[in-house]
Amino acid sequence: MNSIIKQLMDEVLDFYLNVEKSKVVPKAYSEELRAHLNATYDFHERVPLDKLISDISWMMRQWTLHVTHPLYFGLYVPGVKMSSIIADTLVALYNPQLGSWSHAPAANEIEQFTLNYLLSQFGFNTDSCTANFTTGGTEANLSAVIVALTKAFPQYGDNGILSLKSQPLIYLTEEAHNSFTKIAHITGLGRNSLRIIETDESLKLDMNDLTKQLQEDKALCYAPFLVVGTAGTTSAGVIDPLPQLAEFCQEHKLWFHVDAAYGGAAILSPRLKPFLTGIELADSITCDAHKWFSVSMGAGMFFCKHKDAVTKAFRVVSPYMPGKSGDTIDLYDTTIQCSRRFIGLKVFMCLAELGIDGFAEMIEHQVQMGIHLRKALKNSGWTIMNDTPLPVVCFTHEKIINQEVSPSNLLQLLYDSQRVWISETKLKNKIPVLRACITNFRTEKSDIDLLVKELEKIL
Ligand SMILES: *Cc1c(COP(=O)(O)O)cnc(C)c1O
Repeated sequence: MNSIIKQLMDEVLDFYLNVEKSKVVPKAYSEELRAHLNATYDFHERVPLDKLISDISWMMRQWTLHVTHPLYFGLYVPGVKMSSIIADTLVALYNPQLGSWSHAPAANEIEQFTLNYLLSQFGFNTDSCTANFTTGGTEANLSAVIVALTKAFPQYGDNGILSLKSQPLIYLTEEAHNSFTKIAHITGLGRNSLRIIETDESLKLDMNDLTKQLQEDKALCYAPFLVVGTAGTTSAGVIDPLPQLAEFCQEHKLWFHVDAAYGGAAILSPRLKPFLTGIELADSITCDAHKWFSVSMGAGMFFCKHKDAVTKAFRVVSPYMPGKSGDTIDLYDTTIQCSRRFIGLKVFMCLAELGIDGFAEMIEHQVQMGIHLRKALKNSGWTIMNDTPLPVVCFTHEKIINQEVSPSNLLQLLYDSQRVWISETKLKNKIPVLRACITNFRTEKSDIDLLVKELEKIL
C-alpha cells in the first residue's frame, strides 16, 4: 500500500508543479479512446491499483483539455489550489454524510462556519438568513426558483403548478444562464414561463423593457414572481444593474435573485466589491466556488433571506433518518440533496490557507491580467466587444465582421497548435465573438502575450 500511495502522491505533485509543460488542447478521438478501454479492461480480469493509477494518469494527461493550465482562457473553470486537492482527498477518505448533522458534526459546522462568513460578506444577516452548499450554480438557481415559488404561491408545494390561477413568470435577459431553461422545465413552470428582457448596448438588463414587460404581463393576468439579475454573465461577464433591480422588485413585490455564480467571488475583494453593490438587497444569491474561488468542481452555494420558505420547500418526514440534535439543522430536510458530500471543505481550506487578503490578491491579479489582455488585443488590431470590471474579454476583428474568417475556423487553427484555449460565443445570441477569460491564478502577462501572438499568427 505504501508504494501505491507514494505513486499517487508523485503523480499529484508532478502534475500540479508541471502542468505548464503539458499541452493545453488534446487530440482526442472517441474511436481511439474506446479502443484503448476495450483493449485494457473487461471487468473480469483484475487490475492492480498501481497499474490503474498509471493508466488513468496516462489517459487523463493526454486526453483532457487542461483547464488548470495558465494558457487555458476558458469557460469559468479555475486553476485549483493544492488546498482544494487535499480537501477532496480528505473528503473521500472520511466520506462523511452531511445530510444528517449527527452523522457529521465537524463537517456540518465547518460548512456553516464558512457559509456564515460569506453570508455576512454579502451583507446578509447570519441569524435570519440561510445558506447551503450545492453541486453547482444550476442546483443553487433551482433552489432559488423552488423557494421563491413556495413563498409566492402557498399552494404550489402541495397541489402543484396546475392549482395556480395564473401562469407564474420569471424575468431575465438572453445573457442569463441557460440553467433557467432547464429549471423552468423541471419545476413544471414550463419553458414559456421565461420572459426574455432586452439588454442595452452594454449587454445589461434594460430596466425600461422590464417595466414595460411587467405591465403587459400583469394586464394579461399572468403572475410574475421572480427577476434574475446576473452578476457576471456567462458570455461576457457583465453585471446587471443590481440596485435598480432591487428597487424594482421591492416596489412590485417580486423575488430578486442574483445569479453571481461567477462574479460572486468579487465580494471578497475590497476593490471589486463595489461592483456588486445592490447584491445585499437580493432575496437570494447563487455563487459558485468552483468558478472563481480556485477550488475544484463541484462547489456551488445558495444564499437566501427567507429561512421559513426554504424550510417549507424542502421539508420531509423521514422515519429512517436519525433525529435532530439541539439547535442544529439537518440538510436532508432543508436542501434539495439527501446523501450529501462534504462540498464545503475545499472552500473552507482555500479561505483559511490564503487568508482573506491572499484571496483578494489572487482574484485582483486575475483582474489585472484581464486589463492587460484587453490592451494587448487592442494593440494587435482586435476590437473589444464587452465592458466589465471582471477578467472576461469578448473580441472581434474586421475579418470576422466582413465574414472573411469565422470564429470557429479561427479557433480550429488555434487549437491545432495545442498551446492555448479560448472559446467563442454570441453576444445578444447573434453577434459572433471570440472569448477569453482569465480563470487561473497562475496566468501571467507572458501567457497573455503568447495568446495574442498565437492569434496574430493565424489571422
Ligand atoms: C456557470 C454558471 C451557472 C451554472 O453553474 P454550474 O455550476 O455550471 O451548474 C449559472 N449561472 C451563471 C451566471 C454561470 O456562469
